[in-house]
Amino acid sequence: MLTTSIQKSLIISLHDAHPGSQAQIAEQVAFLAAYGITCSSILIVPEFHHSGLISENKEFCDAASDWQAKGHELVLHGYFHDRQESPPEKLSTVFWTRLYTNREAEFLDLPRETAQLRLERGRALFKSQGWRGRGFVAPAWLMAGGLTNLLAEMGFAYTTRVGEIIPLLPGLNQLKTSRSLCYSTRAGWRRFASGIWNKYLYGRLRDTDLIRLSLHPRDLEFPLMRRQIDQILRASLKRGFQPTTYGDYVAR
Ligand SMILES: [Zn+2]
Repeated sequence: MLTTSIQKSLIISLHDAHPGSQAQIAEQVAFLAAYGITCSSILIVPEFHHSGLISENKEFCDAASDWQAKGHELVLHGYFHDRQESPPEKLSTVFWTRLYTNREAEFLDLPRETAQLRLERGRALFKSQGWRGRGFVAPAWLMAGGLTNLLAEMGFAYTTRVGEIIPLLPGLNQLKTSRSLCYSTRAGWRRFASGIWNKYLYGRLRDTDLIRLSLHPRDLEFPLMRRQIDQILRASLKRGFQPTTYGDYVAR
């Protein structure tokens, strides 16, 4: 993709794609298409909450392959997306595992060998399906120290945190600081607070050259959030932001 340094980019990521969320992701893909947006980064979880390997679900794999064929990017997003086999929790991690997330911070404190094994299994799955999988995004963007080095050694092209995009291969763009718009749907007060936060954040981002919008499977179910997402998309496109994927963005 040809871009210049002044091009304004809009990166939308659709989180937590697996057979249980297939209908919601398909709805989000269609929702974006109505704005003429035909590329996003779709974050795929190989065995969501230990509920079986997604390659056993042909319907889901066909749908994901179709998203890729249409221009969307498929990204490895954790492996189990839970903490069933994680190290015992420490006082120092409880905030991230219990409050910030609902026990989903899989890669927060995994030993290196375990992390590598899961990354290899995830990558083998992507390869078996013909999915490119250039990047890796940890559940809730929470990563153990050293994970970015491991990802780089394994040849992943990039990873992201809530506040930055981290290219990992030599010759790619520099680290880019940009906070993602992201909603919380777990409780009414969280939805209310994230609506206010995102409005404030969008106000700050609209004059920069990058807007990141992260959607989770239930986000369009709530009318207030759906309305705000609609406003953000319309306003961003009107201001000249070009939709792209993380993979294309870091490879510019
Ligand atoms: Zn996730």
